[in-house]
Amino acid sequence: MSNLDVKPSATVCGGRQDVSAAPVRELLTARTVQLGESTQVRRLLPNLGRRMVGAWCFVDHYGPDDIADEPGMQVPPHPHTGLQTVSWLHEGEVLHRDSLGSKQTVRPRELGLMTSGRGISHSEESPRDHARYLHGAQLWVALPDTHRDVPPAFEHHAELPTVTGGGGLHARVVLGELDGAVSPGTAYTPIAGADLTLAEGTHARLPLQPDFEYAVLAMSGEAEADGVRLSPGSMLYLGCGRTELPLRADVDSSVMLLGGEPFAERIVMWWNFVARSGDEITRARTEWEAAADRFGEVHGYAGPRLLAPELPPTPLKPRGRER
Ligand code: MN
Repeated sequence: MSNLDVKPSATVCGGRQDVSAAPVRELLTARTVQLGESTQVRRLLPNLGRRMVGAWCFVDHYGPDDIADEPGMQVPPHPHTGLQTVSWLHEGEVLHRDSLGSKQTVRPRELGLMTSGRGISHSEESPRDHARYLHGAQLWVALPDTHRDVPPAFEHHAELPTVTGGGGLHARVVLGELDGAVSPGTAYTPIAGADLTLAEGTHARLPLQPDFEYAVLAMSGEAEADGVRLSPGSMLYLGCGRTELPLRADVDSSVMLLGGEPFAERIVMWWNFVARSGDEITRARTEWEAAADRFGEVHGYAGPRLLAPELPPTPLKPRGRER
């Protein structure tokens, strides 16, 4: 998905100064963002009070939306740099096309993982014949400096390893590692992303790595994480220093666990770009507007590419996190 903000603001994030070394329970509320005419998403990251969780730097939750009589998701070709996108669905399907020639329908609980490296462009759309409901999360992972210029790539993994936590908990490992199970998706930093299904009556403890920071994104139902009841579309930041996470649910529920080693580098995010300086952002924007080779071309999408928004009037510089 693209950040379709008409006036996106720049976000500077990364660095360890805002990482909680000890366990915390910090409830993050979403900002509602309008995507196109009919779609609203709930943006959890970046958030006023928290910018990253490990290398996870962007989290949108959307749906469930009834799109039976609507086109559904229609995101025209747009560019990315310096990040990976994770497309994760609970209902519906999304057709992904990119400038590498990939054309892939991503279905519920399958991993669509796109590594932009130095530059890629893609489109995402609900197929013409689509399921009635669309429900999912769009996540971005910042690439570390050592790998942010890798060649672009797209991976689709329909089979993902699972962890059965006992007590009604069932986890699917989306990216990185959870309790010894490793996702086949290529990761460039120590990271964890998992889809957790909690059956009615779940009472479980999920093993965590104490040197990772974690958050839980509520997808459906009414799960309780470390005693905090979560409504869908909210996120609970958990900090570092945990060896396990108590999880409960009185009704069938699902959440995503997002975590990783705190991301020590400072990054600049603007629109669909992750960079290290304002100059890099400006260059990426100019190259997209000039249809430079860096971003290639998406074939097959019925419609024009997205134009980049105007840059903000103030120069984009990495600086202290603002709250
Ligand atoms: Mn995108």
